[in-house]
Amino acid sequence: MKTNHHFRIAGHVLFMTMLCVPYAFSKSAGPAKDPFDETVHVADYLEPAIPRPQQAKIASDKLAALRAKTGRAPNILIIVVDDMGWGDPGVYGGGVAIGAPTPNIDRLAHDGLKLTSFYAQSLCTPSRAALMTGRMPPRSGLTRPLLTGENPKVNPWADEDTTAKLLSAAGYRTALAGKWHLGEMEGTQPHQVGYDEYFGILSVVSEMSQVIDGNLYPDLVNKPARMAAVSKLVLPEITAGEKGKPTHVVQHLKTTEELGMLDQQFADFSDKFIRSSVTQKKPFYLVHAFSRLHNDNYPAPGYAGKSPAAFPYKDAVVEVDDIVGRLMKTLKETGQLENTLVFFTSDNGANEDVWPDTGYQPWRGGKGTTWEGGVRVPGIAYWPGMIAAGRESDGLFDITDLFNTSLAVAGETKRIEKTRYIDGIDQSGFLLADDGKSARQTVFFYSETSLTAMRWQEYKIHLKVFQTDVARQNIDESTLVPTGTTPWVFNLYTDPKEQRSSGHRYFEWGLPRVVGFIKAHAGTYQKYPMKNLGLDVPS
Ligand code: CA
Repeated sequence: MKTNHHFRIAGHVLFMTMLCVPYAFSKSAGPAKDPFDETVHVADYLEPAIPRPQQAKIASDKLAALRAKTGRAPNILIIVVDDMGWGDPGVYGGGVAIGAPTPNIDRLAHDGLKLTSFYAQSLCTPSRAALMTGRMPPRSGLTRPLLTGENPKVNPWADEDTTAKLLSAAGYRTALAGKWHLGEMEGTQPHQVGYDEYFGILSVVSEMSQVIDGNLYPDLVNKPARMAAVSKLVLPEITAGEKGKPTHVVQHLKTTEELGMLDQQFADFSDKFIRSSVTQKKPFYLVHAFSRLHNDNYPAPGYAGKSPAAFPYKDAVVEVDDIVGRLMKTLKETGQLENTLVFFTSDNGANEDVWPDTGYQPWRGGKGTTWEGGVRVPGIAYWPGMIAAGRESDGLFDITDLFNTSLAVAGETKRIEKTRYIDGIDQSGFLLADDGKSARQTVFFYSETSLTAMRWQEYKIHLKVFQTDVARQNIDESTLVPTGTTPWVFNLYTDPKEQRSSGHRYFEWGLPRVVGFIKAHAGTYQKYPMKNLGLDVPS
């Protein structure tokens, strides 16, 4: 393995752990299969999965029957909200109770499958990279957001496949509407990495509001010399492009009112894209990526004060919910509801640092940390006739699984290249069988290239923890600290807020298991190394 500083630190902690607890592996005879390990290793480049042949058969039969009925492949609509907290939608305990009803999102869950252990990574860029590639952020190199005027020295997309690229090659129409945040330079934009069409913003709304809103950012906006300099690095604009054609600017954004209109414009695009795909009789893969609820939220016309809470964030939640309802209406009007897998999620937890322009989660921590608050987000799968209504599951589902699952639903898993490690797992059986269970055994969480934590069954294990001295300062004033004698372990069924580690006291039986899982995961980087994009680091 290319020597990696972060794994060496983790390895030190784990070594100390292994001295104290019995270890199941025998070095001379090679690793014996741990009796707790339910997975099967099918190929070097694929994450081991729990075999569930019966539900896999149900899924493939259902998909075949649907295709026989419709005569074409099913559509896939992935809805990604930016920075929505696990507890924001009503169906997850928020909604009316916290001043922002979400009837349309709730309906998806009531009429579909509500996942209570859906996981993203802790920040926008790594999480979206994982969604698009099915790979952990260190493999694509997209381990942290690119900041104002930053460009990687290596194009991360030069040797990556996106779901959109593979499905476009299979005859799908593919599009990204809304926020990208996975590269702004030439060769890294959505329509240059597999999407047939793109309409949205290449960065993030706060990168634009910082050069527009003189109330929030006076020391930039009200200083002409700084504004002249920053205007050479960032231009607030909506851009668009089609595969093989140059990017063009749709609109230069100059006011907060225009920023408030972004998601309405993205919704207009997605509405048209769905309708034109249906007219052309082509299956579509559409990622609808909201610019909301990331700070700074400015109201769209008619939305100021529309929520009972009347705060801009809450009004934005109501708008997001309305747009979800609008997209569902478009699917219904075009007769595509029963031929479309809809998946609703958020790219990371609510960002507590920007309170009150932020959401809610019942967990510890928030965006930027790998406490549950940063990574455990809403995940709803909806597909009338294919996914039974009213289901709820605590089975593990990682955001990378949407790569494999989308390709499986489309019948195109054969297009996955065998040269790159795929961390995602096909969860089509979990979604489509009425009593489907997760095929995933573990979920891993990163801070940049550092493996900080993992989830296994109801346990959360931390190798490094985010310590904060100040409430709601998870990003701006936190320290990432290696754990000591033992990893910190929380039973999320009895301690969902991760308040008291019980690692060595109640989890002695489990520690060697998770050490084995982590060793196996870290070991995949030997053959499939991390990618360094040449991004500068503050340290
Ligand atoms: Ca985000």
